[in-house]
Amino acid sequence: MKLDKCAWFEDVYVRIYQILALEDRLPKPEEIEVFEKPPVEPRETVYGQAYKNTNAVWFRTIPPADWLFAHELIHLVKDKKTEELEEIYACNLSNFIVVLARKSIIPPQIQSDCTFSSISFSTSF
Ligand SMILES: [Zn+2]
Repeated sequence: MKLDKCAWFEDVYVRIYQILALEDRLPKPEEIEVFEKPPVEPRETVYGQAYKNTNAVWFRTIPPADWLFAHELIHLVKDKKTEELEEIYACNLSNFIVVLARKSIIPPQIQSDCTFSSISFSTSF
């Protein structure tokens, strides 16, 4: 099932997606496949996986934990990062992304002609 068709893809999950999709670095929700079954059954301790080549993710439980959703989406972010760096980003950034998403803080799209004076955040700290 595509991500945009998943009933749980709303609220904090959408905001996590929006934060990570800045600068068009993520495939569109209708391009991300959420596998019901993993192609290969992972170890019991694995709760989610990303399949970069096919823009797909799998989660052991639905809905996935918000931090896990952020973690696996980070794996799908288009970047020139190495695999080792990618896992470090995913582990270290997923909780930060969730904090932003829970507080509804979506950074504005970053344009090359953008200046700091034109950026404003509306938050509810
Ligand atoms: Zn990972």
